[in-house]
Amino acid sequence: MVDVLVVGGGNAALCAALMAREAGASVMLLEAAPREWRGGNSQHTRNLRCMHDAPQDVLIDAYPEEEYWQDLLKVTGGLTNEHLARLVIRESSTCRDWMRRHGVNFQPPLSGALHVARTNAFFMGGGKALVNAYYRSAEALGVQIRYNAPVDALELEGGRFKAARIGDERIEARACVLAAGGFESNREWLREAWGQNERGEWPADNFLIRGTRFNMGVLLKFMLDAGADSIGDPSQSHCVAIDARAPLYDGGICTRIDCVSLGVVVNRDAVRFYDEGEDFWPKRYAIWGRLTAMQPGQIAYSIIDAKAIGRFMPPVFPGVTANTLPELAQKLGLDPVTFEQTLRDYNAACKVGTFDHTALDDCHTEGVTPAKTHWARPIDTAPFYGYALRPGITFTYLGLKVDETAAVRFNDVPSDNLFVAGEMMAGNVLGKGYTAGVGMSIGTAFGRIAGTRAAAAAAAAAAPTGKSGNPSLAKSTT
Ligand SMILES: Cc1cc2nc3c(=O)[nH]c(=O)nc-3n(C[C@H](O)[C@H](O)[C@H](O)COP(=O)(O)OP(=O)(O)OC[C@H]3O[C@@H](n4cnc5c(N)ncnc54)[C@H](O)[C@@H]3O)c2cc1C
Repeated sequence: MVDVLVVGGGNAALCAALMAREAGASVMLLEAAPREWRGGNSQHTRNLRCMHDAPQDVLIDAYPEEEYWQDLLKVTGGLTNEHLARLVIRESSTCRDWMRRHGVNFQPPLSGALHVARTNAFFMGGGKALVNAYYRSAEALGVQIRYNAPVDALELEGGRFKAARIGDERIEARACVLAAGGFESNREWLREAWGQNERGEWPADNFLIRGTRFNMGVLLKFMLDAGADSIGDPSQSHCVAIDARAPLYDGGICTRIDCVSLGVVVNRDAVRFYDEGEDFWPKRYAIWGRLTAMQPGQIAYSIIDAKAIGRFMPPVFPGVTANTLPELAQKLGLDPVTFEQTLRDYNAACKVGTFDHTALDDCHTEGVTPAKTHWARPIDTAPFYGYALRPGITFTYLGLKVDETAAVRFNDVPSDNLFVAGEMMAGNVLGKGYTAGVGMSIGTAFGRIAGTRAAAAAAAAAAPTGKSGNPSLAKSTT
């Protein structure tokens, strides 16, 4: 029998598998996807948000624990567990040497509108390279890897893991780590979670899924039905406004539209609905998916003029271009009269000071609702550009409740051999909102803890005297 079974094949699963193997356990990893699609949402990532008290290789200045925590507190509106959040934050300051040992390389960010050179370490070659490096390292260390292995059920006994099932196949292990993602790929579940709105629409029908098609939430559902303690609201997720032309799955990072803070955003009725300059884009980009989801038809339009060009990472596909605002409205299918009025009101309200897109500058509006509080400049220089936006779901926040041991809990009693990491428990730290790079911080911290704990639980279970694992014996990464 294998010591540790890891279910999932993304960052959290790979961190768990590597740590368990390093701790001496025999490990099998089950990835639902075929080899060419391995790596879940992690294959689409670019960076990790890292605490540091002084400049560190690719990270400039300092990003102390308190500032990181305050950022998280702000975006979640307090819907976070401070103890677990601080644990993730501290782990983010020490995990990169371990990541490097497993082949992950880092690079500074490219310039653009992202303001993250201080806070985020970028993976050389992106998440795909990170995932490939981890798989290579796992294989070299002797982790057994199976692709096309979607686990559909678990056998549990008194809160203990016994075996996983793939159809008729039964795989036993002494301990198990669940790292099978959220339910973001499951359109039926999204539809149920979002329900029907006051206009009679089913908003989730217009969502696109930015990442993998394999995170169907099968095991999350199984565990919730089995009575595992849960956390989070099923309608909360990381949801970005993305290019409406993106494919249903796996559009990835290149479908992002990063010019929102440089212009205005209007809905299908050609009216503005939120402060486009509220804060730096990495701190705000994840609210625009939800904002778009609340609009009629779940569509919005990011409008910029020639002054914005060169100040943000250009989307892969060019936007709709026009030499006049009425022409732009007509090309976007918006009512030209309302559109022109909206832009006229906004332009007239702009109090332009010293424009600086790298700071919370003093360019703002006065006398228009909603206000634009920074980077407000009239949209008056042709050519004009428009990008249609749709809600792009990154990952859902409903998950399993944990404490610092990453153990799955039933009626508040921790399992001694079943652990969870990554998106399946990210809701403990992220009740709502998001700040760029924290998803990988959570998955790396809890993947490493879960792997270590699972290895210790397996060792205890295999010991002649011990029938069950005792997590308190485990070497902790905290
Ligand atoms: C486009 C995009 C860009 C992103 N960029 C960033 C970024 O730069 N920084 C950041 O911090 N976060 C980013 N994120 C979020 C980040 O991807 C997640 O927070 C993180 O990858 C979660 O890791 P995970 O291992 O929990 O999930 P995943 O990486 O999604 O892995 C889940 C795995 O479980 C497998 N699986 C699912 N169901 C089963 C089953 N029943 N049986 C077996 N296997 C199963 C899947 O195939 C997959 O391999 C991004 C996400 C997307 C979509």
